[in-house]
Amino acid sequence: MKTGDIKMMINNLLIEKDVKLNKKIVRFSAQELTAEKECWKVNENSFGKYGVMCEKVNDAEDNEVIFRQLIENINNVFWVMDLVTTKIIYISPAYEEIWGRPCNFLYDNPSSFMTCVHPRDLPKIKKVMEHLQITGEKVEEEYRIIRSDGSIRWIWGRMFSIFDNQNKVYRIVGVAEDITRRKQLEHELIRLATVDPLTGTNNRYSFLERGQTELTRALRYGKPFTLLMLDIDDFKQVNDNFGHHMGDEVLKRMVRKSTVTLRETDIFGRLGGEEFGVILIETDAVKGLVIAERLRANLAKLKIKTGKKIIRFTVSVGLATLKKGDISIGKIMRRADKALYEAKNKGRNRVVRGC
Ligand code: GH3
Ligand code: MG
Ligand code: MG
Repeated sequence: MKTGDIKMMINNLLIEKDVKLNKKIVRFSAQELTAEKECWKVNENSFGKYGVMCEKVNDAEDNEVIFRQLIENINNVFWVMDLVTTKIIYISPAYEEIWGRPCNFLYDNPSSFMTCVHPRDLPKIKKVMEHLQITGEKVEEEYRIIRSDGSIRWIWGRMFSIFDNQNKVYRIVGVAEDITRRKQLEHELIRLATVDPLTGTNNRYSFLERGQTELTRALRYGKPFTLLMLDIDDFKQVNDNFGHHMGDEVLKRMVRKSTVTLRETDIFGRLGGEEFGVILIETDAVKGLVIAERLRANLAKLKIKTGKKIIRFTVSVGLATLKKGDISIGKIMRRADKALYEAKNKGRNRVVRGC
């Protein structure tokens, strides 16, 4: 701070005043104060206006020190790109920790600014850079980068265009924040909310959500849609004969076998207990019955070893297809459930097509 940055004003009158600054008495002349008039802060109280001491650090060197203290201590990466040369002309030190590369690497290899972006996010970031140059609007985007050791970090980038005196964008400046930890927590929350912890398949909530999305799509494009409901036959006996732990094992193996039997596009989920749902996308009843029968047969062949014994089980399946007026997955599920009930009543280990 410079001594000349101290101003004093009392009752709107400039005064020459001794000011105590850093334990030193400094005298200011009236002219000195007039020159910096805009910097004054004036407080008002019931006794009339009186001035307050106001400090302003306006020295170029001081500004640089403050700027450096800011960017070197905040764990965000600040960067400036020159659009004419497409080179990074400034990158703050946090780059080294987040990107896992020395700053000089980026100065020497300007293209690494883009090549370090994860290939899946690269098209998005290329679009952002174009957008900044064309519109000059501020952009915020999340993207991944690949560090020098191959690990991945999530970045929240905020990017801004800087205009020259002809109102053309000539620089882009940005702030990049490492949000990897937040992203991990986000993914973990999504996993907890959508995945069945025992079998790793969709839970009921996720199955219904995804099923509804597919139903809406089928309705919009006039595509067929088939839903299966499966229930393991006499599962209580598996638990009673082999223990709850082996019952759990059967559920896990049942899910694994089902998902390898089905197509990748089909949606499988655990609706609860030993009951499961399958959505066969773009599949009519005829094809659906073939798939359901294949699934039933494959599960009936499954052998699960426990000591010297082998556990085998069967499933009953109810099938329902999309009908006029079905706008919610719930209606189709009710029909599939009725068909499943019928399959149980007819002796289990079979597929029944509902109305
Ligand atoms: P049905 O052929 O009529 O379907 O007979 P079931 O024995 O399969 O049906 P029931 O509804 O009588 O019994 C289902 C059993 O599934 C009872 C319950 O303890 C068991 N079960 C539900 N969830 C789990 C689980 O997560 N692990 C284990 N091991 N068993 C479970
Ligand atoms: Mg059962
Ligand atoms: Mg059941």
